[in-house]
Amino acid sequence: MIPAISLDWRRRAGYCFAKFEKVGNVSPNYIPVVELGPCDIGAYRAGNTGVAYVTCFESGRPGPHVMVNALTHGNEVCGAHALRFLFENQVRPTHGRLTLGFANIDAYLRFDADSPFDTRFVDEDFNRVWDLAVLDGSGTSVELARARAMRPIVDTVDLLLDLHSTPLPNDPMLLAGTWDKGLALARAIGYPAQVVIDAGHAAGRRLRDYDGFDDPASPKASLLVECGQHFEKPAAAVAIETTLRFLRYCDIIDPAIEALRPGADAAAQMVTRVTEAVTIGSQRFAFERELSGFEVIPEAGTLIAHDGDIEIRTPYDNCVMIMPARDVKPGLTAVRLGEIVE
Ligand SMILES: [Zn+2]
Repeated sequence: MIPAISLDWRRRAGYCFAKFEKVGNVSPNYIPVVELGPCDIGAYRAGNTGVAYVTCFESGRPGPHVMVNALTHGNEVCGAHALRFLFENQVRPTHGRLTLGFANIDAYLRFDADSPFDTRFVDEDFNRVWDLAVLDGSGTSVELARARAMRPIVDTVDLLLDLHSTPLPNDPMLLAGTWDKGLALARAIGYPAQVVIDAGHAAGRRLRDYDGFDDPASPKASLLVECGQHFEKPAAAVAIETTLRFLRYCDIIDPAIEALRPGADAAAQMVTRVTEAVTIGSQRFAFERELSGFEVIPEAGTLIAHDGDIEIRTPYDNCVMIMPARDVKPGLTAVRLGEIVE
């Protein structure tokens, strides 16, 4: 299922960026190297919660309900590898409860290495349906049905880690939401090094922002981690590292499990607040420079892109480029702009 391709990902990515600059989009022929593909998670289908692919381990002792969620996006496979790692190493809570969920299974099971970007979702983005009104509404889709099935479990979760990856190679990052509690959680975990304060998407609410997670008065807290490029091998190690550090912070696992960590260095964190998103307005959108994320553009007014005849310039000094898009289509976000908080 997963082709053994030995081409170096970064070199291919460089090729892709060169095209990006010239034609305002990645090459239509661009196929990423799938170093990391889906793993077999059939053993976890039954689970024990009544919801397929959701397993809850009870310690029998008081403590928080902690959830690690994978496959919110079906082709972001690093999370599936991280959860399988927890299962295979029999990681169990010593306190509270630990729930492991594989979310968009329908998309994941359709993965095709020849078109690996096509299985982000089936009908709609699972990570845009977590508004109460949407969940309670009359809409129907594969993803809404799955969200509704998982919702009673998510409702009881105190601390959530949602595992993701990015289309283009990016430094791993924690998305902390906009409230202090998210930033405090990111700092407490201390990994990975990039922390982004962001409000999510106008197109719909993310799982990490569901209900109490996005209520500053609620003790519930969540983090979304982007572990690197979808199909890059290190993304799995980043997902495992982040997960084990998160579980240790939650204080629900045996400290000896620390020894299982891949051992990634915890560099000093940089915190960036997203101030605006550059939304693509025309087919003639093109970046002026190669972007791979977290570039800091020193001077305000620096031209970063053209959208037809409109020039897009940085609004302030030391403007950070966050998650540049792979697809340049009208209506999508091309890049988010951020200011360095610390
Ligand atoms: Zn994602």
